Amino acid sequence: MAKQYKHVVLGGGNAAGYFAREWVARNGAKGELAIIGDEPYVSYERPALSKAYLFPEAPARLPGFHSCVGGGGERQLPEFYAQHGIDYLTNTKVTAVDVATKQLTTASGDSITYDKLVVATGARPSTLVDFKTPGADLKGVHYLRNVADADALIAAIADCKAAGGKAVAIGGGYIGLECAAALALNGLDVTMVFPEDRFMARLFTPDIAAFYEQFYAGKGIKIVKGDVVSSLEGADGKVTAAVLKGGAKLEANLVLVGVGARPNTELFAGQLELLAGPPGGIKTDEHLRTSNPDVYAIGDVAAFPLKLTGVTTRQEHVTCCRQTAAHAAAELLGESKPFDYQPFFYSRVFNLSWQFYGLSEGEVVQFGDVSAGKFGAFWVQGGKVVGAFLESGSPEENAAIKKVAQAQPAAPADLAQQGLAFALAA
Ligand code: FAD
Ligand code: NAD
Repeated sequence: MAKQYKHVVLGGGNAAGYFAREWVARNGAKGELAIIGDEPYVSYERPALSKAYLFPEAPARLPGFHSCVGGGGERQLPEFYAQHGIDYLTNTKVTAVDVATKQLTTASGDSITYDKLVVATGARPSTLVDFKTPGADLKGVHYLRNVADADALIAAIADCKAAGGKAVAIGGGYIGLECAAALALNGLDVTMVFPEDRFMARLFTPDIAAFYEQFYAGKGIKIVKGDVVSSLEGADGKVTAAVLKGGAKLEANLVLVGVGARPNTELFAGQLELLAGPPGGIKTDEHLRTSNPDVYAIGDVAAFPLKLTGVTTRQEHVTCCRQTAAHAAAELLGESKPFDYQPFFYSRVFNLSWQFYGLSEGEVVQFGDVSAGKFGAFWVQGGKVVGAFLESGSPEENAAIKKVAQAQPAAPADLAQQGLAFALAA
């Protein structure tokens, strides 16, 4: 017989934990909720995996970073869910969904029915197999999305050290930057390769990127820009080298790939309205409701209208996953209002830490002293400050740039000279 639940969250990842937090805050121990995920753990803070989890000294491990510790909440262990009447089905992969009959089928053939479904299936790494790169399936080629990947990467770091210590990190985005730093901290000889002309090209200006690139070079990390890996070579099934399109060959005992992520939407193809990709995702309205009124989408998989711009957007970032989760829980429990999200991106590598709030659109006005490592930038569009970036901000300074990006004040002519003082005074 099918298991029946009033509410089901499909995908037991980061967003699911925050959904449960809000659910419990509003609904107490009434339960009426199941969370179904294919990982062996209840929800955890995924950002820890590319940072403290990989530290050579005192690394983070579960249960230390279960949700919602990253968002200032309780560390929700399996008991938390049980105590509040929430059935958390771990190790349970859903292989089919029928939104017409409101039924899920699991890999073991069980059926689960729901009244309301919240899709939180997240995203998965794009792979070199997707790119049809020869040698993509060699041992020693790694991705990072979950604890199993992180454990495999840690074992690979040890193997790499024993084999010669040469690592290649592919990608100049979040994973490439954070993992290259972690691999270097582990004593590996790291070379980064990416097709753009600078680090984090979608956000960083050339000057901002140059600061981080020099910092990485100072840590011994080599950087190959404007090139891609055309094939991987191996011996005895293990990777030994990365061959670049430009002709260079890099010795590699470990290859870490961070070439973007794809939303897990396949279960809903032909059933829910999807956003043509990239970025792809399950389209929602301003209440995070999909094209089926009994199905909501949250976290990395949700493509929702950003109130600021009216444009349907998908954000692969943890603050968005936390806020979409809390919002959908409130909607399902009767509090309906448009979801209003301020884009927020951040990263921490070595002893550096940056934050960005708002929109990276328009003209960039930089401020501060790049050589001293304390600098930032405002994005100005239509005469208004719409985005703000800051490296090494104090909590007060970060709060100030957040506020200014939200308020969108008129940009004064001497914005560059005023710099951070403008945000602090706004
Ligand atoms: P996920 O957390 O990916 O959860 C989705 C879950 O659904 C997974 O457990 C998946 O296995 C499961 N699932 C999928 N399909 C099925 C199925 N058919 N059946 C059952 N289960 C299924 N963001 C930041 O803002 N700052 C950071 O510093 C940061 N660091 C990150 C570091 C790493 C290594 C990664 C991978 C991401 C990082 N992010 C960061 C992004 C952030 O972690 C994501 O935005 C967040 O995890 C999204 O939550 P989610 O629940 O939507 O997806
Ligand atoms: P990303 O989108 O940040 O970066 C992808 C990078 O792939 C691009 O910058 C580009 O350099 C590279 N690339 C694309 N095609 C390539 C090719 N053919 N060869 C070599 N490089 C190529 O994605 P990611 O870094 O893989 O991160 C994956 C997911 O994890 C994203 O959802 C990201 O938001 C999330 N994440 C976020 C953080 C954070 O917010 N601090 C940290 C880690 C991971």
